[in-house]
Formats: sequence, C-alpha cells, structure tokens
Amino acid sequence: MRPLTASHLLALWESGLDQPLLHRALALLAAVYPETSPETLATLPIGQRDARLLNLRAAVFGPRLNSLATCPTCGERLELTFDVDDIRTPELPVSHGEPPPDGIHTLTLDGYTLTYRLPNSLDLAAISHPAPDEDPRQQLFARCLITATHKGKPYPLERLPEKIVQALTTQMAESDPQADVQLALTCPACGNTWQATFDILPFLWAEIHAWAQRLLREIHLLASAYGWSESEILALSPWRRAMYLQMVTQ
Ligand SMILES: [Zn+2]
Repeated sequence: MRPLTASHLLALWESGLDQPLLHRALALLAAVYPETSPETLATLPIGQRDARLLNLRAAVFGPRLNSLATCPTCGERLELTFDVDDIRTPELPVSHGEPPPDGIHTLTLDGYTLTYRLPNSLDLAAISHPAPDEDPRQQLFARCLITATHKGKPYPLERLPEKIVQALTTQMAESDPQADVQLALTCPACGNTWQATFDILPFLWAEIHAWAQRLLREIHLLASAYGWSESEILALSPWRRAMYLQMVTQ
C-alpha cells in the first residue's frame, strides 16, 4: 500500500466532493493501491473493498476509531472506541471452506443449484436508485447470479421459491462477512443491548471531510502569518505544522 501525502489526500477530497460515495471510495483505493487496476478495485466484493478501506484508514489516521451511537431504548449517547483490527473478519468462515479461487460460489438446496458471485461496488451503484416498481434485492440477484438450475434444468430467477432466495441472501452475507460489520453494544444507562452496523466508507469519508476543513483552516492561518504558499505549508510534516500553528494562535 502506497502512503498518501497530505496534498494528495486533499486533492482526492476535493475531486470527490461532487462524486457519489462509491466513486470516492474507489478513487481513494486507486491512490493507495496503484498496482491494482481500477476495474479490479471496482469489482472487489464489498467486504474485500472495505478491508482495504480499513487499511487506508489505519495508514492515514491510525488504527484507533472513535464513533458515536445512540441507545434506541433510552436515547443515551455512547462514545465508542475500537481498533481497526477489532472489526476485521476472516475472509470466509470455516463452514464455507476456502474462498473459491475464481470468485464463483455455489448454493445447493432442495434440488436447486445456484452459482453466483459476491456483490461489488458496481452492483451497489447499479441498484442505488431503483425505479418504484423495481425490487433492489431482485436486481442485485439478477446481476450476481450466474446460473440457476432445478434438478439439472435451467430455472428462471424470478420463479425461485422464497426459501431459496432467503438461503442465497444468507449465504452471500456469510461469504462476505466484512461487508456487514455489526457492533455489539450495551447501554451503560439502561443496560439495553443491541447490534449497530458500522460502515467504514461513510465513516472514513466524514473523517476525511473534517480533516480537510481543519487543514484548510490551518493553511489559511499559516499563510496569513508567514506568507507561505499552500504547497509550502502542505510540505511541512504534521508535527511542524502543528508547532507553527501553536505559535501563531498563542
Ligand atoms: Zn439506554
């Protein structure tokens, strides 16, 4: 993974501002994984993409994550602190064996055999604005299902029994656990326990957004005080920048 300079991250933030969140994720990953083609990054299963975003987060802002949650029972605000490694999941649970090298998974149940691949960023982008009469889950299956047979004969996706569709949904999720990170939370005020979803992509982008705004403010203060250019200020180490800033604002 290639390190990101402050000026590169600032440029990625700026160019991502008018992009959908998915595009921002892929642009960030392309910057730190230049050896991986943009097509490959876009077609990584969501969990694998998110594992790389966690690497990026740890490299840029460190491994410690701070988040907030609200108790659904009493409304208490919880401050959560955890490490990137706490929310990493193994690529595939043991019950599903080794990940298939070609990325093609199989589900066999009640005489039905389905082959499918795991959803990726392009799939999520394609179903992000469904028409009123479209079912996003059905659309996702239509994209990810490769073959469906019943007793050896081709079988239409839209006629699959609900039990098979449910099994497919479950197995897809189990095959890509990093795509759905759940935090087990306990409210200190009322003792309520619940599961909260943690999604690294919006979390990381919100952090980058806050960082960029802070950085621009710092550049403004230092440029005003010393007459340095933006690129000169960005070339300073964060530590030196902080020291000069302290002197300016004291
Ligand atoms: Zn509570």
